[in-house]
Amino acid sequence: MKLADKLTNFNTIKKAIEIEIKNNYINIDGKTQSFAKFIAGEVKKIVKLFPKETKWKKLLKKLEYYHMDNVSERINNLNELIILLHTPIDEDDTIKNNLYSTDPDEIPVMYAKGIGPKVAKILNRVNIFTISDLINYYPKRYLDYTQRTKISQIENNEQVTIFGTIKSVSMFNSKNKNLSILKILVTDGSGTLSATWFYAKANRSMQERYKAQYPKGANIILSGIAKHDKFSNLFAIDRAEATIISGDFDEKDIIHNARIVPIYPLCENLNAKTLRKAIFNCLEQYSDKIKTVLPQSILEKLNLFDKKTAINQIHFPSDFDTLEQARTTLIFEELFIQQLKFMLIREETKRLKNTLVINIKEGGLVDKFVKSLPFTLTEAQNKAFNEILSDLNSTEPMQRLLQGDVGSGKTVVACMMLLAIVENGYQGAIMAPTEILAEQHYKNFINWLTPLGVSLGLFVGRHGIKTRRETQTNLKNSQTDIAIGTHALIQTGVEFANLGGIVIDEQHRFGVRQRKELSQKGLNPQMLTMTATPIPRTLALSVHGDLDLTIIDELPAGRKPVKTSLIKASQRTKTYGLIREEIEKGNKAYIVFPLIDESETLSAKAATKEAKRLAEKVFPDLKIGLVHGKQKPQEKEENMLKFKNGEYHILVSTTVIEVGVDIPDATVMMIENSERFGLSQLHQLRGRVGRSDKQSYCILVSDTNTSETKERLNVLVQTNDGFVIAEKDLQIRGPGEFLGTRQSGLPDLLIADIVRDTKILEMAREEAINFLKTDNLLKYSNLNKIIQKQIEDMKSFINAG
Ligand code: ADP
Ligand code: MG
Repeated sequence: MKLADKLTNFNTIKKAIEIEIKNNYINIDGKTQSFAKFIAGEVKKIVKLFPKETKWKKLLKKLEYYHMDNVSERINNLNELIILLHTPIDEDDTIKNNLYSTDPDEIPVMYAKGIGPKVAKILNRVNIFTISDLINYYPKRYLDYTQRTKISQIENNEQVTIFGTIKSVSMFNSKNKNLSILKILVTDGSGTLSATWFYAKANRSMQERYKAQYPKGANIILSGIAKHDKFSNLFAIDRAEATIISGDFDEKDIIHNARIVPIYPLCENLNAKTLRKAIFNCLEQYSDKIKTVLPQSILEKLNLFDKKTAINQIHFPSDFDTLEQARTTLIFEELFIQQLKFMLIREETKRLKNTLVINIKEGGLVDKFVKSLPFTLTEAQNKAFNEILSDLNSTEPMQRLLQGDVGSGKTVVACMMLLAIVENGYQGAIMAPTEILAEQHYKNFINWLTPLGVSLGLFVGRHGIKTRRETQTNLKNSQTDIAIGTHALIQTGVEFANLGGIVIDEQHRFGVRQRKELSQKGLNPQMLTMTATPIPRTLALSVHGDLDLTIIDELPAGRKPVKTSLIKASQRTKTYGLIREEIEKGNKAYIVFPLIDESETLSAKAATKEAKRLAEKVFPDLKIGLVHGKQKPQEKEENMLKFKNGEYHILVSTTVIEVGVDIPDATVMMIENSERFGLSQLHQLRGRVGRSDKQSYCILVSDTNTSETKERLNVLVQTNDGFVIAEKDLQIRGPGEFLGTRQSGLPDLLIADIVRDTKILEMAREEAINFLKTDNLLKYSNLNKIIQKQIEDMKSFINAG
């Protein structure tokens, strides 16, 4: 338990200590009493609060003499106090923490050399709380200041580092701007160079102070870009990185130039040099405390550094090869831990939970269903079901994610799984994120399953109390075999007689908690999750590493690939012609508008205006529906349904059209300002058409002139393969954007980048598998500690989720 949470005046105490330190430990006088009295009084209270904490008792004895101690004793005692304040209290008094904590994991960053409370606060904002956090704050890039250049050999616009002596220093005010300019001339025997810095206008005495930083005759190292100055015929460096070298300097102590210099992701108000220096100091002081986490055998096999070397080299590399090896080491360690964690979690779930064993028989429900379908299953569908079936056959709970492009026929596979459950005498459930999707499943299932004598129940929010009571009763009495619904399924009152299997459609739309809630309505039912957003393998390994993946990579036969074209706004009329032709054939069209300036209100307006324009000017004889995010969910769904049922020919919408809505006779998808969408999103939208054997069209409208955007949009013109598109999209937008804000569970990685480091990820996975087979985690206490902590964090996240 943290003391900070337990003490109401924790902050006051901290403040008092800060002020005392600022005043050089003089035992300052507060409003009512001296610091010594105040602090002794507060510590006495803590001792009373935690009588078993002997450390606090001992400290109290010392602090009672604070006013009589000399300064060095005062410093020691206050340091002890600070550490204790940040040491968790265990009410059972089993605390293992050392009184004089020297563990960088525990020392607050505020006490790092060169970092005061002010800087600490800034660092806290980027999640740096302890010395360890600071040491693990890695550079985002580096400047190469290793090449020492003779001034006579400088080339124009070259990045250089020169060693020389200061020949002259001058400072003057600029004529028109409010600037003071400091200029020095430096010579290295081969030539002379000038360096210039700019300051806000300074008065004479300030100028003297600035100049004093560059004493004439001192040795100096300068790094920066050298530019030739026509007037003086000298090379000049603006805002050079400068280090003054004193007589007995040691080259390894140069921090800011003459080396590979780390550049950190900066936070506001934080001086780059302050941060760099603080990290440098921390490494000097705490390097020996850095523990190697990876097993020695792996380090040797893969030629990786021990942790201490890796950390030192990532901050202040001795050369670029070593830097690369350090990066690889840290990336590998991070990903190895991640993969090991996933595997352990999987093993644990498998061990702790036993599920029903489900078998199917020839001539059983599943068999009958497949035979009754008006089409044959694709090979990919068969393979997917077989993988699911082998999960169902064992007592280990299924942990499988079924991925498949829009229209690849996941619903049929899900239905087969649920029938297998029913065939074995249990109930099944499928949960979808929206009512329209739930109802679509319900309709499909009614068509498919009523002839087989399987009974279905629909659970959606809009049902009145009477319907709800009826469906709930049927479910509880085993009269319903498969429940289909939205979040309404997880409400209290919905009870199953014997829930044995669950399908979560569009799983990323649900939180971990919601999936868990549904599964808790049964006794460890088997669970299949599905998604229509293909996730590239490496990303899937990182985000869903605890799941088995099944991929349906084939569309049902007879589907014509959607014909996609990219047009300019001026070519719209042609598209309107196409839309009219298609509607005359009895088909339908979507016209989609993107979000405008992140505002659903603005886009709703734009879509509304456009729908009106289309209805009045372009298609006066056709019926045009409108769906946007400002409508109530019910209104939205009604309009969608009207479109589905043929009351509208054209549906104008913002991006709210639901993924998964199946309207087979919609054959045109026109997307305005298509450059504003991500590739995966465009692919999803395109998936609304081409859902039958009719030829469908997707028209991307964009007036973009940048070749980059054109190239991006052309990916869609060229391919219909969701995985290719996803891979590309991931490369362009990065994992965070790719998964979207809804999707939690993107791992916190300090240095690894799941898009860039795919090779190391595969390697880490392989090593993790190998490690679990051949080695014993308990042999490696540092590794074990980290993994256990991460697993705990993940579980508490899931339980809180
Ligand atoms: P999704 O994977 O996007 O959820 P669906 O399961 O909704 O795809 O299937 C899309 C359409 O394809 C549905 O109308 C479905 O009945 C049909 N379908 C599914 N499997 C096949 C198949 N093997 N052959 C022909 N049509 C199929
Ligand atoms: Mg679907």
